[in-house]
Amino acid sequence: MTEIRTRFAPSPTGFMHIGNLRTALYCYLYARHNNGKFILRIEDTDQQRQVENAVEVIYNTLLLSGLVHDEGPDVGGSYGPYVQSERKTIYAKYAQQLIEKGAAYYCFCGKERLDSLVDESGTRKYDKHCLHLSPQEISDNLASGIPYVIRQNVPLDGTTTFIDQVYGEITVENKELHDNVLMKSDGLPTYNFANVVDDHLMEISHVFRGMEYLSSTPNYNLLYNAFGWEIPQYVHLPHIMRDKSHKLSKRQGDANFEDFYNKGYLPEAILNYVALLGWNPKTEQEQFSLEELVQLFDIAGISKSSAIFDPVKLRWLNGLYIKEMDVDEFLTRALPFYRTVKTPVSIALLSTLLQSRIGAFTDIPEKIAFIDNYDNYDLALFENKDAKTTLDMARQTLPVVLNALRDLQQWTNEAIFSLYSTLTETLGIKKKQLLWIVRIALTGHASTPCGASEMCVLIGKKLSLKRLEETVERL
Ligand code: GLU
Repeated sequence: MTEIRTRFAPSPTGFMHIGNLRTALYCYLYARHNNGKFILRIEDTDQQRQVENAVEVIYNTLLLSGLVHDEGPDVGGSYGPYVQSERKTIYAKYAQQLIEKGAAYYCFCGKERLDSLVDESGTRKYDKHCLHLSPQEISDNLASGIPYVIRQNVPLDGTTTFIDQVYGEITVENKELHDNVLMKSDGLPTYNFANVVDDHLMEISHVFRGMEYLSSTPNYNLLYNAFGWEIPQYVHLPHIMRDKSHKLSKRQGDANFEDFYNKGYLPEAILNYVALLGWNPKTEQEQFSLEELVQLFDIAGISKSSAIFDPVKLRWLNGLYIKEMDVDEFLTRALPFYRTVKTPVSIALLSTLLQSRIGAFTDIPEKIAFIDNYDNYDLALFENKDAKTTLDMARQTLPVVLNALRDLQQWTNEAIFSLYSTLTETLGIKKKQLLWIVRIALTGHASTPCGASEMCVLIGKKLSLKRLEETVERL
């Protein structure tokens, strides 16, 4: 069997959004599953749309996400160069071959003439005008330096059929196809040409890419046929949508890997989520390591219908990964978010409390706001419908709790909790009521990452008593 070779071929035109990452991931998974090769190729032939640093973003994303490529501009390989702008002479040579075969032709038409070909629906279909130039006219135009492009010469009749591994057999009438530009007037190829030449020369066996390329694939197949080259397997991937009617878009700055990473999302959680956007592992399991994905991935599980990117699901999955993190690793990643805390607290205990309660590391500042942000909190918090507590109840409860805590020798969660249990009996209130009142008095916040006894341990005896005293006075 020939070697499985997949390529991730991003254009450096912006951030790597979740859709780009998914293409990279599927290429990686398919190659690894089949002991094949995963190749990175930078498609930078559209110089006008290039964005500074976009190539760094691509490398960084692959590095952080652990999608290690076997060949590429940075690691080399025997099929280089892997950057399209460095392959100019290669494309020029193959474009000439197509011209000789009659499968492509020079086109000297200017903007004005091309604009006049736009029909009522706004579509511009080239009318093969320059296909009919005589050899003499062509060489005169070339000699006088008239700018030109090279166009594909698609047949006017017949059909082109191909099989996509996801969407099945597709047939188009050749008369629906356009004479695409293959080489631009700047001497660089378009994607419509470069992808064919490169996928052939780099011996790509499986082309994974977004389904927006499905409609141009017949054009590419005509080029493969003109060269007499074997056509690769196509695996077109369904769209990823922001919502029911909008695709994720690079230009709109939609969901991109670096943003999520910077917000404290874990690469393994992002990859796990992205893998399931358009691929069904056919099990109930939702959490998969990269190795498991490599084992399980198959083209048959790729769906035809669009997937909706759901940030809530991603957060949930990320929360699962955070919960399972090694304690030290959690602490290392959480520490930068603790830096602003001024009140001395037990960082180890804080981490234990937070680890099971956050969906992303950027949740931490809000979750720990109660530590410093205490003074003059709203006393109305004591009035709570769910817990059935009132200000009056707080007035009666807190002095008793304060005295009992003052006398407590053992400052542990268990000792404090059992003290609260005894006090609920003494005071004749429900435990839920006491816990609400004490927690509000200790934190001044309705939502905190732990209950009234753990809170005492977290902020220590001295500060606990001080906050209770302050509240008793205010009440
Ligand atoms: N350079 C194309 C893009 O970034 C890649 C398409 C492909 O994978 O063939 O959209």
